[in-house]
Amino acid sequence: MKHIVILATGGTIAGKASSKAHTAAYQSAVVSINELLQEIGSLADTLQITSEQIAQIDSADMTFELWLAMAHRINELLRQPEVDGIVITHGTDTLEETAYFLNLVVKSSKPVVLVGAMRPTTAISCDGPMNLYNGVILAAHPAAAGKGVLVTLNDTINASRDVTKTNTALPDTFKAPELGYLGYIIDGQPHFYRAPIRKHTYMTEFSLENITEFPKVDILYGYVHDTGMLAYVAEQAGVRGLIYAGLGSGNMPKAVKTTLRALQKQGIIIVRSTRVPNGIVLRNGAINDDDYHFIAGDTLSPQKARILLMLALTKTTDLTAIQDMFWQY
Ligand code: ASP
Repeated sequence: MKHIVILATGGTIAGKASSKAHTAAYQSAVVSINELLQEIGSLADTLQITSEQIAQIDSADMTFELWLAMAHRINELLRQPEVDGIVITHGTDTLEETAYFLNLVVKSSKPVVLVGAMRPTTAISCDGPMNLYNGVILAAHPAAAGKGVLVTLNDTINASRDVTKTNTALPDTFKAPELGYLGYIIDGQPHFYRAPIRKHTYMTEFSLENITEFPKVDILYGYVHDTGMLAYVAEQAGVRGLIYAGLGSGNMPKAVKTTLRALQKQGIIIVRSTRVPNGIVLRNGAINDDDYHFIAGDTLSPQKARILLMLALTKTTDLTAIQDMFWQY
């Protein structure tokens, strides 16, 4: 029998509303993982499932402390020969960030799968039980091994690097809009059509040993007549890196370019990302990065570029090395 460990953190998958029709006004993170597991009971005949309630939070309140505790626990569990895979239940608001973080720091090729739900446990047609069921099935399936940290909701399988929440309310929200799903889970059977090729999990150079906090990296959002004023606020707050969610392919107003270059000269690492949901930010494209000493963020969303830069800064401040990481991860 395969042994799957579920780490529960809260979210809507553990939520409750006062009415069966409520899918927006409800309280997240109130139902325990033991109660949720009763919904998928029949799996216990074919798999050994154990669970740990490691948090009970709305995912807006996810923290670096919890990320570190979660990553250490996952690595510890996966080192045990008797553990075959991990499922993490998580609120959907920051699920993609936790998934990408774990994708860069888990040191195992065994399956790690994040699941959530868009409807609380009390809703008519709530999606949590099926998503949890599928998550456990996926974590126990050999095809999920070596593909990095995966995300499953709404019968789809996504790579943590590319997946994003695309709709604030509908169950069909987690997608990799252009790069695509990795597959589906239908009738309890995963079907894969592609695999991630960017480095992940056991292939990465990042280690959490001796890490108790992360270098401070913040995100600035681009818009018309941005004067760059908030970049100085970030500098005052002591950031080591900034992600600019730029216009188009990582473009920025002249005033912002000048400001960010000035901050770069003080040693703050600047990554150009984009506020556009899809597409590449290429080096020396919209802006000459060689002249400005900026990093191009590739296809990573600003929130994922931030995670990669935080981890990169635990290793180096060398611009060429950091740019290389953005092409590799
Ligand atoms: N606010 C919830 C959370 O992220 C939303 C959800 O889980 O769907 O925890």
